[in-house]
Amino acid sequence: MRNVVPQQQALVTPGKDPSEFSAQQYSKLSCTDAEFRQLIGDQSEGTLARFLDNKLNVLCWYHPRRDTNFIFVAQLALPLLKEQLKGILDSLEPALREDIVVAMLDESARLVAVSRPGFAANWKHPIVSTEVGEALPHWELAVYLLDPSRLTRSVHMLRLTFGLLIGVLLLSIVIGSWLIVKDFDRQLTLARQKTDFVSNVSHELKTPLTSIRMFSELLAAGRVTDPEKRKSYLEIITAESARLTRLINNVLDFAHLERGEKKYEMRKLDFVTLARDTAEAYRPQLEKSGFDFKCELPEQALDVHADRDALAQVIVNLLSNAEKYSGSQREIILRIELHNSPLRHVELQVLDRGLGVAAGCEEKIFEKFYRAHDSLSSGIQGSGLGLTLARQIARAHGGDVAYLPREGSGSCFILRLPLGPPNA
Ligand code: ADP
Repeated sequence: MRNVVPQQQALVTPGKDPSEFSAQQYSKLSCTDAEFRQLIGDQSEGTLARFLDNKLNVLCWYHPRRDTNFIFVAQLALPLLKEQLKGILDSLEPALREDIVVAMLDESARLVAVSRPGFAANWKHPIVSTEVGEALPHWELAVYLLDPSRLTRSVHMLRLTFGLLIGVLLLSIVIGSWLIVKDFDRQLTLARQKTDFVSNVSHELKTPLTSIRMFSELLAAGRVTDPEKRKSYLEIITAESARLTRLINNVLDFAHLERGEKKYEMRKLDFVTLARDTAEAYRPQLEKSGFDFKCELPEQALDVHADRDALAQVIVNLLSNAEKYSGSQREIILRIELHNSPLRHVELQVLDRGLGVAAGCEEKIFEKFYRAHDSLSSGIQGSGLGLTLARQIARAHGGDVAYLPREGSGSCFILRLPLGPPNA
């Protein structure tokens, strides 16, 4: 119990010397009791807050060291303090003013100060709040949203953005994995095709070499006296050497193309003459194997700007394929047609009545090393490079090579080349 009779308020005006206050303005104090001393302990000054009859009372006290019997205590006039604190939140950051309102609330959650005059809210539900301090227990600084629906919208937006991000991330993971698996699969196929290619080429080299060696040894031994037989053996040696040359040319040209080193000697030439010369050079080989070989060529010359050897190689590859994949029906037609639509171009067709290409493989046969009829099941040797080269050469000339199934049965391979305007 305090013996302050009566309790008075000391109104402290800034700049005014406290000694000028009249005696009535100070509380009259008597000696403190033991309980109070226990509360303040050894400290020389401080504040003490207590709730009496549900009302907050804040005392500021001072205990001079030299006079241990006295403690000076003053009670804060809370209504006056609230009045002075009213403008304390006016200096809130302008950028924040657009979004939030800061309020100071007293111990009964009543408004003391607010950063935006006139703002009303349910003061008990701030988005965040903190206690002012020990000196003013239960007083709070609380933050409210100026437009709570904006936060909801932002949360929706954020949720949508996150959802989309996660969706995109998952999609890229799925697509990435699929691409990796596809690439792995492609690499595996390519590795297998390369191994097949090495064994195919070795086999293709070995077969003609064996014949060449066998017949040349027979001739060298002088045991073949019949001039007809000698002629036939020499023809076999020539044909097998030509086959070897073709294969080696294809492999070398393919290596050049792969490295981007293939050079073309482009000049103006008559495509009909080139096709006729190449076909006639190949005719003996076909006729010897029992083929009925027809050439349907136009009378007029068709000038193209091209590399003679490269185009001849394309025609020989197509004829050699027709020969290889013909089976028992031995009939080949080489035809040249002039077309004016969509652009003026020439078409060289090589038609056979052979095995044809299975559906679904029409484009694959132009991939490197790809063989639709593998050596094991068909017994037909090959490197899987002939059509790849033919297409690359044709494309380097602005044209293309394509496959079409032939009406009836067999294949039709078409070499298309662009032609300039007539008489250009
Ligand atoms: P290859 O050395 O195997 O003949 P190509 O690149 O010339 O290589 O041909 C690729 C594949 O296309 C061949 O393995 C064959 O399966 C198919 N092919 C090519 N020409 C014909 C044709 N005239 N008739 C049927 N299939 C063919």
